[in-house]
Formats: sequence, structure tokens, C-alpha cells
Amino acid sequence: MEAIQYAHPAIECLDRDGILAIQERKLKALGERLQGHPEWVRHFQKADMSPRDLGNLDALSSVPTLDKADLRALYPFPMLTAELAQVRRFVATSGTSGMPVMFGLTDRDLSQLLPHQMSRILRAAGIVAGDRVYQGYGYGLWFGGLGMDIGLAACGAVNFPIGPGRGDLVVKWLSDHAYTACTVSPLWLMTLVNLAKSQNIDPRKAWKLRVGVFGGQSISAAFRDQLEAEMPPGFMAQNNYGTTEAGGPVVAQSCPYSHDVDEMHLINEDTIITEVVDPATMKRVGPGEVGEIVVTTLDRDASPVIRWRTRDLVKLSAKPYDCPCGRAGLPKIGRIIGRNDDMLKVRGVIVFPTQIEDIIAETEGAVKEAWQIYIDSEHQILEEITVAVERRGGASSIQEKQDVQQRLAHALHSRLGIRVTVECHDEGSLPRYEGKAVRVHRRGAKPEK
Ligand SMILES: [Zn+2]
Repeated sequence: MEAIQYAHPAIECLDRDGILAIQERKLKALGERLQGHPEWVRHFQKADMSPRDLGNLDALSSVPTLDKADLRALYPFPMLTAELAQVRRFVATSGTSGMPVMFGLTDRDLSQLLPHQMSRILRAAGIVAGDRVYQGYGYGLWFGGLGMDIGLAACGAVNFPIGPGRGDLVVKWLSDHAYTACTVSPLWLMTLVNLAKSQNIDPRKAWKLRVGVFGGQSISAAFRDQLEAEMPPGFMAQNNYGTTEAGGPVVAQSCPYSHDVDEMHLINEDTIITEVVDPATMKRVGPGEVGEIVVTTLDRDASPVIRWRTRDLVKLSAKPYDCPCGRAGLPKIGRIIGRNDDMLKVRGVIVFPTQIEDIIAETEGAVKEAWQIYIDSEHQILEEITVAVERRGGASSIQEKQDVQQRLAHALHSRLGIRVTVECHDEGSLPRYEGKAVRVHRRGAKPEK
């Protein structure tokens, strides 16, 4: 394995107590700062607290959590802790479930905090100075492209900020520009692989990619292995996790060691406190247990969050500390299992779309990157879902599609314990997503709510 790269070895190699000491000091300072902002004072009052009560880490668990409803109620610029004139730029949530929520970034956020956090993310993934990087995250109000631009500059990498889409051009440039790294949706990269192959280009020989930083969508280990097999030898697919509310793609990142066990470090714990909690009790879960990620930002200037409920569920590593990479005090989590609100309860059985994705990825003949779940019947309880997939290999015969359909239906039944209807289509029939995929659709069912 190549030598481990650190952005800030003095912090990244601290033991857990060293990290906790930084968190406690910064939390106290944050409390003092929020005391001067009436929206925050009112928020703390919900638990009969004041921001100044944030004197130690234990106090944090008594602070009210924050969610979308809290922020939407303070439209249009919720809970800003900087004068609007000091905000240099806004970013926003996607707004797929309502009005986008605006988060501000000051000069300090842009020129100090983000380079600090993002350089650490990209170094951990293995990006080095001089890497030629195909940057495929989106721009505009979305945080992804902005965060990557800042991080790549801080790492001394050469950025090609193409953003999402433009498949034919990217396939050509992957060869001609000889990109060595990419920051992009893994599903989109797989689409590009197939596009290249359809043009008789073999990515394993024609491309120079060495590392991919994959966010926006957590991918299964099976999908990752398949993607790596399509890439030049030695290529590593490194998972990334973040959210706009937490301050960008800055929360978690796999390293060359945690990659092998499909885990990521909570790598910016000196600037972000991440709790993994039982969503019912809001108490922290233990190693190996599943919980919701709840985020507190310690250094954000304009738009801090305290105990932001991400709704993302994740398994805390069974062995969170002492990764061989040397980041002893930065705990590890598994990939994102799903969102609280993505959870489907089919005839009483809890199912996450990511579980279905894993099974599709392991099903012979099925296209891994294009699939959908249709909710067909939903009365008091969710009764019927249909999983739609494609058979790899262009137009297929009815028999060929039936074979995939039967294999998948059998695997879904044996792994999930429920019978679901499976549809198999020709390759290319289902939608492709350049960013975050929308997997669950309601058809002929009662509308939501
Ligand atoms: Zn590690």
C-alpha cells in the first residue's frame, strides 16, 4: 500500500481523548457565540437551556435536535450567525421535499474551514498534488461542486470542473486528458464505463484513473468491486459522506484501509461532532449498532447547526478506533444504509432500498446502475412493491429476461423474507441519474401523506 497521506497529521493522529478535548473546547466557544443570537437562544429555550450551557460534551445530549421544520419556520435565512452582508455565498439543500433551505458561507468559511476539511477528505481518499481530477459533482446552489473545487485547490490537484453530464465528452477526455482521479457519482461513472465500451474503448487500458471519491450516493461493496474491476488495475473507489447542513461533503471518508472493510472515518471530528444515535431514544448507540447520524458543526461561521438530524442511518463500526492508517481517534462508520424516511415497511417487514440494491448488484445478468422500486398498493400498510431492473446486453429475448427476473425474485425472497414482483426490461429502458438517484416511485397507490 502507498504511504498514508495526511492533511493535518498533528490532529488526525491524536488519540480519542485528544479529539474529545478539542471538541469540548470548541463547543464551549460555540455556546458563547450563539448566546448573542436570539433565534438560537429561543431554540435552546425549548429544553430550558441557554447556549452558554454548552460547557462540556455531556451537555450536548440535552440540547434540542434541529430538523428541516425548525429551519423552514425561519424562512428565508434561518439561524444565521453572521450579518447577511458578511455572507459571501449561499448554498442550499436540494429541496426535493419542499422549499430549499439556505445556508450561508462567510469569507472565513470559504477560505479557512472548507480548505481545512476538504483537504483532509481528499488526502484520506488518496488524492495528491498534481492529480488531474475529473470533478463531476454539481454546481449552482449545490454544495458538492463548490466543496470539491475548494478541496482540490487546497490539495494542489489540477481540477477539471466538468460537473454532471456530458457523457460523450467525458469519455473522450478520460483518455485524452488522462485524468488520474475523479469526484463523481459512482452510478454515473458506471454509465460512462458502459458508454466507453459501446465505443470499443476499454477503460482498463485507455483510462488512467487511480482513485474515485464517491459521494451523493453510497454504493454497496458488490457494486464497488464491480466498478473497480472495470477500471485500470489498482483503482480504488473511496466512499464519501456529507450533507449541506453539515457543511458539505465533509463528514466521512474512507481511507485505503477502511476501504477494504467498507467503512469511512468521521474524519473532521475536530470541526464536526457526529453522534450516531438510536432515532427513538436519541441515545448514542454502541459499536456495531445502527443509528441515525446527528451532526453539530463547531467552526462554521455563518450557518452552524447543533444536533442536526440527518435522517441517515449507519452502522457504527464494531471496531471504531485504531485504524491501521494511524487515524486512531477518528471513529469509523459503515456506508449509509438508508434514510429513516426511505425505510419501507412491506407487509410489516422493514426494507431499505439499499438492501435491494445489494441484491441486484449480486444478481447475474442484471444491470447494476439502473433499477427502480414501484409502490403499487398502499392502504393501511404497504402491501405490494415491484422491483424493476434491466437485463444486461441490449435487446434480450423474453426467456432471457425471465431468467433474470426469476433469479432476482428468488434472491429477494430468500434475503429479505418477502415476495416482491420483479419486472425485467431491456438494457437502457429505465432512467439513469447523474446525481442522486430517485429509486422509489409511487404508481397507482395512494399519494403520500
Ligand atoms: Zn483509516
